[in-house]
Amino acid sequence: MNIVLLGPPGAGKGTHADALTHALGILQVSTGDIIRAAIKNQTPRGLEFKKYAETGALVPDDLVHALVEDRLRQPDCQPGFLLDGFPRTVVQAEWLDRMLERYRRSLGHVLLIEVNDAMILERIVGRATDPVTGHIYHLKFDPPPTAEIAARVVVRKDDTAEVLITRLQEYHEKTAPLVPHYEQAGLLRRIDGLGTVEAVRARVLASVGVTPEPLIPNPQPPAPSPYS
Ligand code: AMP
Repeated sequence: MNIVLLGPPGAGKGTHADALTHALGILQVSTGDIIRAAIKNQTPRGLEFKKYAETGALVPDDLVHALVEDRLRQPDCQPGFLLDGFPRTVVQAEWLDRMLERYRRSLGHVLLIEVNDAMILERIVGRATDPVTGHIYHLKFDPPPTAEIAARVVVRKDDTAEVLITRLQEYHEKTAPLVPHYEQAGLLRRIDGLGTVEAVRARVLASVGVTPEPLIPNPQPPAPSPYS
């Protein structure tokens, strides 16, 4: 199964990608993560990406196409992939359609997580990632559980109110037009991104036909422990 995950910055794409890839046994391919890694490692491509990514502007389509094709051709993507952060423009979406056709692959679903701009601002400013586990916290609403994790979490350079304005403009101008593109293809599923992480996760999984494991107490009394 191949999936595209769409939504504005801060909609929860990174958070819910994890649940989807585990449930479906597919690989997450995040163009944002690949771009940040290239910038950090100062590769020739990374130096080019830096000019755009750190101001919140989109990297030019042809540069992103090359990195997506390189990644999707790797053997670990063959069972299926979830694209997080790609496509971001109609040109990218049309390029992806043609590329998948060349490899005789297709998309199974396009999931759109919908969140309004006011909520996005609240969520993004304060977002921090644990570099060890990849878990995303929010310093105010979902703070790291231990002092050790709090000391190592990293805040993305583009998660500031100032850069977010550009990122949201880019989303509304360039990425939102993908909605009719995928609606016409009959692939789009809209998911309400407001609510608790658990509630949104359940909606995301249900949209691809996965029933989340219910959090109900086990009716059986626990077996007596051999150590007590
Ligand atoms: P993200 O982590 O998806 O929010 O991406 C972070 C930044 O990487 C974006 O603001 C862009 O500068 C760049 N980027 C990620 N994916 C794309 C894409 N598909 N097209 C153009 N730029 C991208």
